[in-house]
Amino acid sequence: MNQLIDPFGRTIEYLRISVTDRCDLRCSYCMSEDVEFLPRQDILSFEEILRLANSFAQLGVKIIRITGGEPLMRKKLPELISRIKAIPGIEEVVMTTNGTLLTQYAKPLFEAGLSRLNISLDTLKADRFKQLTRRDRLQAVLDGIAEAKKYAFAAIKLNAVVMKGMNDDEIIALTDFAVANEIDITFIEEMPLGEVGYDRSMTFLSSADIKAVIQKQYDLIDSSYKTGGPAVYCGLENKKTRIGFISPHSNNFCSDCNRVRLTAVGRLLLCLGNENSQDLRTLMREGCDDQQLIEQLISALQLKPEKHEFNLAEEVKILRFMSHTGG
Ligand code: SAM
Ligand code: SF4
Repeated sequence: MNQLIDPFGRTIEYLRISVTDRCDLRCSYCMSEDVEFLPRQDILSFEEILRLANSFAQLGVKIIRITGGEPLMRKKLPELISRIKAIPGIEEVVMTTNGTLLTQYAKPLFEAGLSRLNISLDTLKADRFKQLTRRDRLQAVLDGIAEAKKYAFAAIKLNAVVMKGMNDDEIIALTDFAVANEIDITFIEEMPLGEVGYDRSMTFLSSADIKAVIQKQYDLIDSSYKTGGPAVYCGLENKKTRIGFISPHSNNFCSDCNRVRLTAVGRLLLCLGNENSQDLRTLMREGCDDQQLIEQLISALQLKPEKHEFNLAEEVKILRFMSHTGG
């Protein structure tokens, strides 16, 4: 079988697909309040997404993460998930969501075969949630988490971006919440994606700092647990909860990168922190055949850089927002 192997010998088995750039929140670290969404005709159709997922599966991709924007803003998403799950070679379809629509969608997502769910939650305070996301939706997210727990997902995990002076006083409260709910939590270092109106170097908090705060309250046990993503996990004595750290700045995770990303408009991004990409939508809309598509994917892999280019001390280099990229 042909495989996707980059110039540095890394094999790609994990594809993140952004199914929309739209979102019902406006997280201040992710997008600006007046963000302009893309014209609908520019967004890949289900058939285009499925064709690409199929090609990637033929090249050894096993895990597909559905993301966005907010993926649940895309109509009939459970149908897309069950069709991706049915592709030979795809072992897992997982999703990252802000959770606001889970009361409505947790059941259909589970029935569609979604195995793991990451739910973003940066604060447990309603007024702060409103400030951070520019929308008053904390209760919807909490209800969504409670609803998701009713189904036997292989894992439900919280994702929290921690920012100095914004929500770093809630590291323990968020950990306690995950422990009480017997779900995992991952703390993420903020990445400099897009110009969001504040100096990210002022709010940056490293995973080491976050870990030090947690260690004052909890005994962390090193763990070899892996989910296919970039998080490094610790366990907690006598608790089901694992605590993950995603450290794009302080612990460069590029050397074992197994991922590529497909944006909502069909641009294949080889790295989150680099603009190298391949426009697959134009290729498909110009009528390429399946063999040409596969060859294009293999050759695009040559564009994968060795490592990302995040540097908080410099000007923002990556102008696209995380919502355009597919986190
Ligand atoms: N809307 C969904 C959500 O919020 O979970 C999925 C897309 S969102 C872009 C995916 C993840 O990226 C979220 O966990 C979010 O917190 C994270 N994220 C967004 N902008 C980020 C940034 N600048 N640095 C680090 N993480 C970021
Ligand atoms: Fe929307 Fe997710 Fe970005 Fe927040 S992080 S604005 S929920 S896409």
